Amino acid sequence: MAVINIMEDIVKERLELFLKDSECCKCEMCKGDMLAFALNSLKPKYVNSKKGELFGRLDSGKYQNNIDIDIAVAKAIEIVSSSPHRG
Ligand SMILES: [Zn+2]
Repeated sequence: MAVINIMEDIVKERLELFLKDSECCKCEMCKGDMLAFALNSLKPKYVNSKKGELFGRLDSGKYQNNIDIDIAVAKAIEIVSSSPHRG
């Protein structure tokens, strides 16, 4: 049995999109920090990984244009890019 957090994929997608228009550092360390920051500020959405492919996709449609996700991603970029490569 395994579960996956479908928010991970959605946030990753939004992050890549936002970073295209951003001047900030896009190294793996900064992107990882941004992803973690955004995911920590959002409610996780777990699905059974067996059904995940089907339900996850149906469900993710509901979240794709979610303003909360966009705000969390924008904020994560802002905070991480103000002190890049920390740690
Ligand atoms: Zn960096």
